Amino acid sequence: MRGAVIHAPGDVRFETLDDPRILHPTDAIIRTAVTCVCGSDLWPYRGVEAIGDPHPMGHEYVGFVEEVGSEVTSVKPGQFVVGSFATSDNTCANCRNGWQSNCLHREFMSTCQADYVRIPNAQGTLVATDEHPADEFLPGLLAVSDVMGTGWYAALAAEVKPGCTAVVVGDGAVGLCGVIAARELGAERIIAMSRHEPRQNLAREFGATDIVAERGDEGIARVKDLTGGIGADSVLECVGTAEAMQQALQSARPGGNVGFVGVPHEVAIDGQELFFSHVGLRGGPAPVRRYLPDLMDRVLTGRINPGKVFDLTLPLDQVAEGYQAMDERRAIKALLTP
Ligand SMILES: [Zn+2]
Repeated sequence: MRGAVIHAPGDVRFETLDDPRILHPTDAIIRTAVTCVCGSDLWPYRGVEAIGDPHPMGHEYVGFVEEVGSEVTSVKPGQFVVGSFATSDNTCANCRNGWQSNCLHREFMSTCQADYVRIPNAQGTLVATDEHPADEFLPGLLAVSDVMGTGWYAALAAEVKPGCTAVVVGDGAVGLCGVIAARELGAERIIAMSRHEPRQNLAREFGATDIVAERGDEGIARVKDLTGGIGADSVLECVGTAEAMQQALQSARPGGNVGFVGVPHEVAIDGQELFFSHVGLRGGPAPVRRYLPDLMDRVLTGRINPGKVFDLTLPLDQVAEGYQAMDERRAIKALLTP
C-alpha cells in the first residue's frame, strides 16, 4: 500500500509501505475512505516538534473494515466505521469514567494518511454506521473523528451552557468546530477570534454572533467590551501557543471556564494569576469516543456539517501539497481521498 512519511521539516513523501497486518487479537484493519492533514501535523512539519527517524503520519480516519482480530466482535468486515485518534478499550476504569482518551490501553493513531490502517483496541474504538453513508457525509464523519470531537470537548470543558457567552480562540478547524459545539450546546453569544475573512465567514455560518480580529491585549479588550467589561462565561482555547492561552485566560470572567484543546507548546501558566482570577481550567486530548454516537448522528441527520472545514480536497498521493497548503494557510484543512 501507499502512505505519507515525514522525513524532515517540510519534507512529506508519499511512499510504498508494508500493508498493515493484524498484530493482536484486538486489532482491526480498515481500508481508508477519506483521511486528512491535521493542524497538529504542522508542528513536526514546521520543525517545532522533533521528527527523529522518518515515520508515517496521520491520525484521522474513517473507512471500511477489511479484517478483524479474533477478539473483535463489535464490528465486522464490510462495515463503515468511525474512530478516534486515541484508541481505547472502552472498558477500563478511565473509559468507564468517560475519559477514553486516557484509556489504560490507549494507543495514539499515527499512520492514517495511507490506503490501509491498523486500528488497535478496535472493539472499543470503532463505531459502525447502520449502512454505508452517502459520500456527502464522509467529510463530516471524518471531522467527527478528530476536530469536531475536539471542539465539542473544548465547549464542554469550558462549561458552555444554554444562554452563556462563549469565546473561541483560534480559527483553525478545531476552533471552527468549537463554534458549532458552542451553538449546539446553547450559547447565546459566540465570539470568534479570527483575522482571516474566509474563516470569519465560516465561523458566522457555524453560529458565531461576533468576530474579534484583534489579538493579544487588544483582543482581550475587545472581548471585555463585548461582555460588559467582565469577560466571557466560557472560553475555548483551540491553538496551543502561549499567546492564545493568555488571551483565553484573560478573556474569561471571574468564575468562568477555559477549555484548552490546542496541544500546548511553550505554554506556561502563572499560578498566582490563575489563583486570583477564579477561572476554571480543563484541557487535554478530547475523549472523542464518548461523543462519537451523538456526533455521528448529528452529522447523518444533517443537523451539523463540520465537513465544511475541509476547503481543499486532494488525492492521497498529493498529501505533500496538503501539508504545504495548510502550512501557508492557503487551506484550513486538506481532505485526502485514496
Ligand atoms: Zn480504557
